Amino acid sequence: MVKDRARNIHNLEMKNGHNLCKLVNTLYEKSSFYKSKFDEIGLHPEDIKGVEDLHRLPFTEKGDLRHNYPLGMQVAPEDEIVRIHSSSGTTGKPVLIPYTKGDVDNWTIMMARCMEMVGITSGDRLQITPGYGLWTAGTGFQAGAEYIGAMALPIGPGNTEQQLKFMVDLKTTVLIGTSSYGLLLAEEAEKRGLLGDVSLRIGILGSERWGEKMRARIESLFGMKTFDIYGLTEIYGPGIAIDCPSHSGLHYWNDHFIFEIIDPLTGGPVENGNKGELVITTLTKEGMPLLRYRTRDITRILPARCSCGSAYPMIDRIIGRSDDMIKVKGVQVYPADIEQIITTLSDISSEYLIKIDRQGGRENITLEVERNQRAKSTNNTLAVLLQEEIKKKIGISFSVRVVEFGSLPRSQKKTKRIIDSRELQ
Ligand code: ZN
Repeated sequence: MVKDRARNIHNLEMKNGHNLCKLVNTLYEKSSFYKSKFDEIGLHPEDIKGVEDLHRLPFTEKGDLRHNYPLGMQVAPEDEIVRIHSSSGTTGKPVLIPYTKGDVDNWTIMMARCMEMVGITSGDRLQITPGYGLWTAGTGFQAGAEYIGAMALPIGPGNTEQQLKFMVDLKTTVLIGTSSYGLLLAEEAEKRGLLGDVSLRIGILGSERWGEKMRARIESLFGMKTFDIYGLTEIYGPGIAIDCPSHSGLHYWNDHFIFEIIDPLTGGPVENGNKGELVITTLTKEGMPLLRYRTRDITRILPARCSCGSAYPMIDRIIGRSDDMIKVKGVQVYPADIEQIITTLSDISSEYLIKIDRQGGRENITLEVERNQRAKSTNNTLAVLLQEEIKKKIGISFSVRVVEFGSLPRSQKKTKRIIDSRELQ
C-alpha cells in the first residue's frame, strides 16, 4: 500500500524535474512573494529546466513566512484549503501553514510509511503524547495510525499519572512523543514499579535531538525499540524522514521533496556527504509550497544505500540547529559533540546541561552531568576524565561538574541543554 516507490531512480529524477518546473511556474504566476524574489535576481521560470538548476532558485527563510503572516504565502485558492496549522513561534508572529486536502492526504501517507518502516501494524495501539490543535504532531500521528488501521489513543501531552494508567490498562504497544518525555515516563514507571506491567514494543521519539545514551536508557527501561523521526511544521509536520531498523540514518521521501545540504554561513553547497544546513524544496505540496526552505537543522546526506533494503535515501540524525551551535573560545560546539563523548562513559547518565558565561572578558563553559545510579568512580575522577576527553575531541577546556542521578531537570517537552548567559552580562 505504501511500499517503496523510489526504485526507478531515473524515472523519479525525470518526474521530480517535471514537478519542480511546474512548481516554479505556479509560484511565479500565483505568489507575489516568489514573483518579486525571482524578479529581484532576474530569474525567469524558463531558466529552470530540471533539478540540476535548483541552485539558481532563491532560498526561503522562516522570516519570510513570518513577514507574510497570516496567509500571504498561500498559493492554492481559498476553497481548496481545508486546514491550518501553526508552528510554535517563541518570538514574534506565529507562522501559519494552510493545507489542501491533497496536502493532508500526502502527509497521512508519509506518516503511514514511517509507521510501516518501524514495524507498526494494524494490531498496534499507539499512545500519542504530542500536542493536538494548531500543533501538527498529534494530528499527524493520529492520521497515520488510522490509515494503517492501528488504534490511536489521542491522549496529548502532560498528566503523567494518566499516561501511565492508560499505558498499563490499555496495553499500549507504541509510544509517540519527545525523547525527553519518553525518558520521563520510563523513569516514573520505574519509580512506581510499573515496568513489568507495560506492553510497549516500539517508541517513535522526535522533535528534539537525542543521543544513543538516552536511546539505550529508554529502550532498556521500557523494553522497546525506539526510532527517531524528523519533520517541521512549515513542511507538513513530523514524518518527512524516519529512522529504520538498521539505525543507520533517517530515510526521507524523495518523491515528495528535494533535500540539499548547504554551508549555513555562505549558503553555498558542501561536498557530498559533508554536514551542513538542510534545505528542503517541496515537490507535491499545494497549500503553501516552499522553494529551498532553510530548516536551520544541521545534518548530512548519507551516500550509502541502507542495509534495511529501502531505496529511499537517508540523512544523518540531526546533529543540532545552526542557531544552537555555540561558539566558545573561537570553536564551534554542537550539543551532539558532547553527547558523543558522554556516550562512551558508563558511569555517566544520558542527561547533561551546558552553561556558558563571561567573567572579566573570559568565557567560561561548564558541563553538568549526572553520575549513574550504579557508578563506581568518584565524582572527581569522572570530572577529570570528561575534561580530558573534551579537550582531546573538541579542543577547548570545559569545567565539569558531576551531580547526583536525577538532579538535572527532566522535561515533558524538549529538554533545554544550553544556558548561554553571555549576552546578559
Ligand atoms: Zn534503512
